[in-house]
Amino acid sequence: MAEHTAVATGAPSVSAEQIRDLLARTPKGLLINGTWRDASDGGTFDVENPATGEVLATLASATPEDAQAAMDAAAEVQESWARTAPRERAEILRRAFDLVQERRDDLALLMTLEMGKPLAEANGEVTYGGEFLRWFSEEAVRHYGRTASTPEGNLQMVVRHKPVGPCYLITPWNFPLAMATRKVSPAVAAGCTMVLKSAKLTPLTSQYFAQIMIDAGLPAGVLNVVSSKSASAVSKPIMTDPRLRKVSFTGSTPVGKQLMKDAADSVLRTSMELGGNGPLLVFDDADLDKAVTGAVAAKMRNMGEACTAANRILVHESVAEEFMEKFATTLAGLTVGDGTLEDTKVGPLVDSNALESVTAFVDDALAKGARVVTGGHRVGDKGYFYAPTVLADVPEDARVSCEEIFGPVAPVITFKDEDDAVRIANTTEYGLASYVFTEDYKRAYRVADRIEFGLMGLNVGVISNAAAPFGGVKQSGVGREGGAEGIEEYSTVQYIGVESP
Ligand code: NAD
Repeated sequence: MAEHTAVATGAPSVSAEQIRDLLARTPKGLLINGTWRDASDGGTFDVENPATGEVLATLASATPEDAQAAMDAAAEVQESWARTAPRERAEILRRAFDLVQERRDDLALLMTLEMGKPLAEANGEVTYGGEFLRWFSEEAVRHYGRTASTPEGNLQMVVRHKPVGPCYLITPWNFPLAMATRKVSPAVAAGCTMVLKSAKLTPLTSQYFAQIMIDAGLPAGVLNVVSSKSASAVSKPIMTDPRLRKVSFTGSTPVGKQLMKDAADSVLRTSMELGGNGPLLVFDDADLDKAVTGAVAAKMRNMGEACTAANRILVHESVAEEFMEKFATTLAGLTVGDGTLEDTKVGPLVDSNALESVTAFVDDALAKGARVVTGGHRVGDKGYFYAPTVLADVPEDARVSCEEIFGPVAPVITFKDEDDAVRIANTTEYGLASYVFTEDYKRAYRVADRIEFGLMGLNVGVISNAAAPFGGVKQSGVGREGGAEGIEEYSTVQYIGVESP
C-alpha cells in the first residue's frame, strides 16, 4: 500500500479580504416576490467551509409559511409571465449568461468555499453551468409546434406548446451552480414560474445566481428562492399546493422516490435526476493512456462526488496490471488540499458525514478481500480530505461495487470478455453514466446497444454539455435536462382542431 503524500503547499489564489468582501455581497435572505427577506420566525442556519470546518456564513432558514409565500408569489405571476414574448424571456437568459461571465470569479470562489472543489474545477462549472443560460436563450425562440391536416382532411391540427405552470426545483450540493441553471434556464425559456430550494450545505451559490437573474431583468415572483435547514418543512406546503404543476429534483434516489410518491397525489409532472453507479470499461484493444486519462477525469472530477462519476473501473484481465499501475501512479501524484490553493487538484469531501461514509466503503471492501494499491486513508486532521484511492481484487458483492461511493475511491474489477463486461456493468439498479474505452467501433456500438445507461462516453471521461440530453434510465431517474429535450420537460402540449377552410 502506498501512502498518499502529495499535499498542496502552494500560495492561496485569493486573499482573506477578497473572501470577506464576497461573502458580505452574497444575499443571505429568502427571495420571495422579488425581495430578499428574513425568515418569518427569524430562524437561520450556518454554512461551513469543508476545507477548514469553519462557519462561512449564516443564512435565513425558510419556514413552512415562507415556503407558502414563495409558492403564492410563483402562482400569482404565472399567467402574466406565460404571456411574455419568447424573445423577452430569451433576452433575460442571455443577459444572465453575460453576467455569469462577468461575475465568474465570484461564482467560482463561492463554490470552492462552500463545497470544496478546487478553483480551476469551480471555474469549469461556471462555464458549464453558464452554458444552460445561453442554450435555453436560443431554444426559447425556436420552440416550434406543428400544423397539419387530419388524414381525413376535415380539420387542421394545430399542436402548440404551453408552459407547464409553477414548478418546484430542488438541487443537490455537488454542482451548486450548474444544477440550478440546468433547471431555471429551461423553466424561464418555457414561461414557467418557480420556487428553487438548494441544498443546505451549499446555498450561497444559488443565492448569488438568483441575484444575477434579478439583475438580468427577471420580473418579481418568477424565481423565488427558499434556502432552509429543513428540506421537509419547506417541501410540504409546496408539494401539497394545488397550484403546483411540476417538481424537478436532482439528488439521491431514496429522496427522489419519496417525491414521486408525493407527486402522485396531485399527478404532478416530474423530472428526476437521481443517483448513479457508473461503470468505466477498458477493453483489451483500448489505448491505455487514453483510458487512464479518461478514468482519472471520470473518477476524480469533483472529488468523485458526481452522479456521473465512474464508480467501478472494469478492465479486461489481460491489460489490468498495466492499466492499474498507470492509473494508481497518476492518482498518487494528485495534490490534495484547500481548493483555494494554487496547486490543489483534489479538494475536501463536502462534510464529516461524507468522510465517514467513504471510510466505511473502503473498510467494507478491505474486509471482503480487496487490497489498497494507493491511498485508502484520510489526509490531515482538519477539514474532510481523503486520499485518491485505488482498490484491487474487489469482489462484486463489496459495497463499492454495488452502491454509489461519492468519493475519490476507484475499485478496479477485472472481466474476461465482452459478455462478462456488459453483465457486470448492468448489475446495478442505476443507469446514468457509463464510459467505454475501445478502438474497435463495432464493439463500441455493440456495447452501447447492450448497456443500460442513459449516457455513454466513448474514449472520453467527461461528456456533459448544455446542448446534449442529460439523464438516466432505471433508478437513475426520469426525464432529460439540456439539449432540445430540456425545454419539453417544462412544456405541455395543446392540440387545437380547426375547422378546415
Ligand atoms: P439529497 O437527496 O440528500 O438532497 C438533494 C436535495 O433534496 C437537497 O436540496 C435536499 O435538501 C433535498 N431534500 C432532501 N430531503 C428532501 C425531502 N424529503 N423533500 C424535498 N427535498 C428534500 O442528495 P445530495 O446528497 O444533496 O446529492 C447527492 C445525490 O444527488 C447523489 O445521489 C447524486 O448521484 C445525485 N445527483 C444526481 C445528479 C443527476 O443529474 N442525476 C446530479 C447531481 C447529483
